[in-house]
Amino acid sequence: MSNPPLATCIACGKRYRALVQLKAGIASYRCASCDHVTWEEMPALDKKILYLDQLAISQIFKIRTGTYPPDAPHHAFWEEVAELLEQCVLLQQLLCPSSDIHRDESMVFARGDDLSLAHEMLGGDTSFHASSEIEGDQVWTYLRAFASDTAPVLDLSVDKILHGHRNEWLSRLHITAAMDWTSFAKGVRDQREVSADQMAPLYEHWRSDAKTSFKSVLETELDFGSSRISAYSHFVELARQGLEGGNTNAFVNAALSGPVLEFRELREYFTRTGLGIDDAERQVVNFWQWPGNRTIPHHRIQAYLFAAMARKIKAGQRKSPNRGATNDVRAIATYAPYVDAMFVDSEFATFLQEAPLKDELTYRARIFSIRSRDAFLDYLRGVVRSATIETEMIAVALYGDGARRAQE
Ligand SMILES: [Zn+2]
Repeated sequence: MSNPPLATCIACGKRYRALVQLKAGIASYRCASCDHVTWEEMPALDKKILYLDQLAISQIFKIRTGTYPPDAPHHAFWEEVAELLEQCVLLQQLLCPSSDIHRDESMVFARGDDLSLAHEMLGGDTSFHASSEIEGDQVWTYLRAFASDTAPVLDLSVDKILHGHRNEWLSRLHITAAMDWTSFAKGVRDQREVSADQMAPLYEHWRSDAKTSFKSVLETELDFGSSRISAYSHFVELARQGLEGGNTNAFVNAALSGPVLEFRELREYFTRTGLGIDDAERQVVNFWQWPGNRTIPHHRIQAYLFAAMARKIKAGQRKSPNRGATNDVRAIATYAPYVDAMFVDSEFATFLQEAPLKDELTYRARIFSIRSRDAFLDYLRGVVRSATIETEMIAVALYGDGARRAQE
């Protein structure tokens, strides 16, 4: 099991050297012919970021813990995905960071903790910023553009939305401990249908209102100002009721809700510029109603996905979307502009391929689902291939043979 020849030895001129030590970002090599030792910095990395939805994570987890029935559909697919993903991570080419959207969904798993631990293996030490924070950062970028009467310039590099260091070599301890999937739970329950959530009245409205169309829902949803103002009014009313009824919990929940907090933070921004409270509040509303906000990526993608959901309901879909659907929308709207690839629910992957979404939405991610299995496997194989021979050699030295690529 010899390492591949890498470079010409500067001492003897022969093309053979072996890795002997790795320490603090430095790899040292010893020439197999003359014993000359050289040091080099570890190769720089540029890891791809893949968002896996909860279903994908749980399938991989079941494969790794031997609890995926061999005769169940797609067994071979998930087995191959699990192997390729592990190799991508060991070869330092890709990470699947954990997300607060997963945490919401994990609550329906019997052993949510084990599952999120399992997920951390694929994420290394990285995780996504809170999804509300990512959305908030976009709003603030637009606020500064509004206030300075300039065009908003968003930084959509993935490192903007990640905790941890994407391009660090994973620590050996982390990897060897982490890849031992067998130490995790044996039983994972399937994602449970959560029948209703706070979106249910909206779905019913789409279904029953004769005027509902893709276009009408898109227009309503794209109107940043009226959606913010109605959400704000809703929570202010809940807070008022809580206060008057002596229900502290209800008051606090409403007072700390997203739209109310955003209103207060924006108002503070404007008072800091010297405006009085009333003028500052007027400016918040002016900003919310600013037409420029129609292009906020999170807002725009979400609006189009809601419109696609409404169109499907109008076309006769009997069942209303479950809570998972709300999370699918949130995940795609939040991460698609930043990450390299996403594996998501097939219904939403299909929406994104339909007109006008496929033409009118721009985002960075390649979108995969259970309906594009071959394309997803090809993508992962390409990522494995993208590792240089030197990176592979160091990865094998650090993490063992799991990082070694099969000869093609
Ligand atoms: Zn030599």
